[in-house]
Amino acid sequence: MSKAISRVPAIANEPVKSYAPGSDEVKSLIATYKKLWKEKAEIPMIIGGKEVKTDKKIQLSSPQDHQHDFGFYYEGDMSHVDSAIESALAAKAKWNALGWEQRAAIFLKAADLLAGPYRDTINAATMIGQSKNVHQAEIDSACEFIDFLRFNVEFMTDLYADQPISEKGIWNRVEYRPLEGFCFAVTPFNFTAISGNLPACMALMGNVVVWKPSDKQVFSAKVIMDVLKEAGLPDGVINMIFTDGKETAEKVLAHPDFAGLHFTGSTKVFQGMWKMIGDNIHNYKSYPRIVGETGGKDFVMVHPSANVEAVATGLVRGAFEYQGQKCSAASRAYIPRSLWDDVKAVMEAQIKTIKIGSPEDPSNFVNAVIDKNSFEKCKGYIDRANAASDASVIIGGQYDDKKGWFVHPTVIETSNPSYESIVEEIFGPILTVYVYEDEKWNDTLKLVDTSTQYSLTGSIFAQDRYAIDEAYKALENASGNFYINDKPTGAVVGQQPFGGSRASGTNDKAGSKMNLLRWVSVRSIKETFVSPKDYKYPYLG
Ligand code: NAD
Repeated sequence: MSKAISRVPAIANEPVKSYAPGSDEVKSLIATYKKLWKEKAEIPMIIGGKEVKTDKKIQLSSPQDHQHDFGFYYEGDMSHVDSAIESALAAKAKWNALGWEQRAAIFLKAADLLAGPYRDTINAATMIGQSKNVHQAEIDSACEFIDFLRFNVEFMTDLYADQPISEKGIWNRVEYRPLEGFCFAVTPFNFTAISGNLPACMALMGNVVVWKPSDKQVFSAKVIMDVLKEAGLPDGVINMIFTDGKETAEKVLAHPDFAGLHFTGSTKVFQGMWKMIGDNIHNYKSYPRIVGETGGKDFVMVHPSANVEAVATGLVRGAFEYQGQKCSAASRAYIPRSLWDDVKAVMEAQIKTIKIGSPEDPSNFVNAVIDKNSFEKCKGYIDRANAASDASVIIGGQYDDKKGWFVHPTVIETSNPSYESIVEEIFGPILTVYVYEDEKWNDTLKLVDTSTQYSLTGSIFAQDRYAIDEAYKALENASGNFYINDKPTGAVVGQQPFGGSRASGTNDKAGSKMNLLRWVSVRSIKETFVSPKDYKYPYLG
């Protein structure tokens, strides 16, 4: 294969564009948004490199205007799952035989296409289909996805360079083989970057993939496949299907050549898939790898020494950016009595200035939640809090579904640390606050650690170093990503490897070497230069 030990290009995080009002970059992005909004997209599945259309057209409507359809996709059935698996397996031998530099070049090229000619398109598709404002689209579908693609190439070469020692007369090596069989990627609606990274990183490591994106993310998923095709990804390496999640999982996870699941989504769905894998364990040719990043109920713990403005800002950004639809969103806060009035006043003042509406107007900070189900779920939590004796809505609480699925930034205060909105994942712009008496700092740390099943992200706000250290120790297992004096969202590839444990996932840290290690199976090779010719060891005389 390769006749050189090539060095990959130096890698840094993709700079985030500011989209300042009146700038050329914001004009260009909004123009692309308007163009795509009017065009009616036609989105086929991609199986074996071919566009696959069916007679089942599913209309795409935008969360910010549910009466506006911007196109449709073709829904498949179980015959398409079969052909996606067959196409993946047919592509395997050739893809596996390709040198790593060739694979790397495809994904590096995809990153450059996204950073340049496709940047507006992937951002606009994410704004229209998933209701992200310009900044949220930029940090996700452009920058984070580009970072995943580039950093993974560097992580892959770091892994390949990780080699065992050799004693005199012997050469020991390891090689990082792709998994035998095919891999399955199942991705969520809320991050275009995650949805692209899950299949792409497995393919980078030499695997072939069946990818089922969320039906609420097909518009930007199409752009991902367009980019990968233009970057030169061979047919059949990643096969994108639009099929029913449960039925697809039942079929894929029963296949003898199923080799690995890369999932991001809700806890319940992942647990169901893990169970299916357990039930099928006797069918497989190898033990499958199972990676799942799942739900969260992310905390902000505030010490009496904290800075009030920093806390309020961390909460407003952490809880309400992208309408709270980040797995890492701040959704429960524990605030000392001595600071509460001040924190509340600053939050109220900030929230009053937040504009809500379509991402087409870049001055809107909050956009629509993803769909009717999500809207109804948020509405339910708000209505029940309004009626509860141990909770009340203290900021926001309005919702409006006339045009789009709009829920206003809402803060619930509860006196009950087990109240539903402070322990359950809502996935909407709703923050619940529990006010504790200052002297109950240690008890409250225990509460933060034990009151939910999740352990994804969390923050401590304090100026007192002893308090930071106490929280750091007491909350060791309460989050996979721990922030000090910062909001619990916004992990950057290469800087804060992301993932959580407990019911939040297998913590295999997307965007790191640790994750890539799950998609390879190591072969150890020992070569002896001068082989012994007699079985007798010296001790035998
Ligand atoms: P979801 O679980 O509803 O869907 C995820 C994917 O699973 C989709 O492709 C969906 O079609 C598919 N699916 C749905 N039901 C299925 C079933 N029964 N069997 C197999 N597949 C099925 O999640 P979502 O609403 O798209 O995303 C939000 C969830 O994802 C939240 O819980 C959030 O916390 C989580 N999330 C976690 C992370 C993380 O890194 N921990 C990141 C993003 C999102």
